[in-house]
Amino acid sequence: MALQIASFSIAARATLDMHSLNNEGGEGNQIQTRMVDIVGADGRMHNVNAISGDMLKHIQAQHFFELARSSGLPLCAGCSHFDANRINADKEWNAQMPASDREALSSLLARCAMDDTAGILITAGGRSLPRKSVVEFGWVVGIPQIVQSESYFHVKYASEREKSRVDADNIAREAVGSNLGQAIFHRPASSGVYAIVCHIELGRIGYNDISQTYAIDEEQRARRAKALIQSVMHTFLELNGAMRTTQLPHLVALDGMLTWSGASALPAPMVSPLAGGSDDGDAYREQIAQIAQALNGAQQPAAVQARRFDDVGAFARELRTLVDQAVPASLVSAR
Ligand SMILES: [Zn+2]
Repeated sequence: MALQIASFSIAARATLDMHSLNNEGGEGNQIQTRMVDIVGADGRMHNVNAISGDMLKHIQAQHFFELARSSGLPLCAGCSHFDANRINADKEWNAQMPASDREALSSLLARCAMDDTAGILITAGGRSLPRKSVVEFGWVVGIPQIVQSESYFHVKYASEREKSRVDADNIAREAVGSNLGQAIFHRPASSGVYAIVCHIELGRIGYNDISQTYAIDEEQRARRAKALIQSVMHTFLELNGAMRTTQLPHLVALDGMLTWSGASALPAPMVSPLAGGSDDGDAYREQIAQIAQALNGAQQPAAVQARRFDDVGAFARELRTLVDQAVPASLVSAR
């Protein structure tokens, strides 16, 4: 059975232990983690560990790329090599790009599922034509009082035997200096409960915002929607990011709320999981449920749906159902 969805939101609290998904790079032998200032549920400023939305967006784009390739969705020359320049790197498309913005946008939407869903700024040919992303991620923010970052001391040892082997191999002295000697470094790891927000405008898949029409047919829109929801599911289940080789994050718990609206123009409601702070882990879900109820009123069938999930397995099950059943609703303005 098809489930029409125009707008879809995820608000969640994830408990992540000993992760390093957000390293900013190093100063000397000290690798920095990212800290941000936020106002907590108590109304006070807090300095907490955070992972930028760019990181999650990048992870989601990678998953979408894999799914698009395996399911045969169209990708432009840039995206088919996961080139960050996307369609701007597609020489053939740039050479025959239509003159009007309206037609150029339709041509882009038809040519590439990645540029359609992830967004792009077309800069080729002196243009500045934006395609706004269908997926939006906020910063993943540690909840004050229940998040902590520590720096850990590591050593890379160089043994005497290794040194003599290096000498024997006649490796240049400069090369020995580069990465073969002994090194000490500090690397951060963070543990805590993090607030995550994500919104997907399924109704905008294939939608030309200038002409207010769809550039692709319903079947193609449905296939892109399926891959998109699946890529978001994989993003939550497999948090790629920095330093996974030795600091694969421990995803200990995941709870939250999924909401979606059908063919109506209503946005899927969302409240930040920062609400309730460290005292009340359920406040944000209660508020979202109340908003959904208020938006629906006495309307039947309900325009807005809200689903709770209490663990990773339940999240995966709910998302699987949506992958199998969801089709992108058509926006009211579309002709
Ligand atoms: Zn592309």
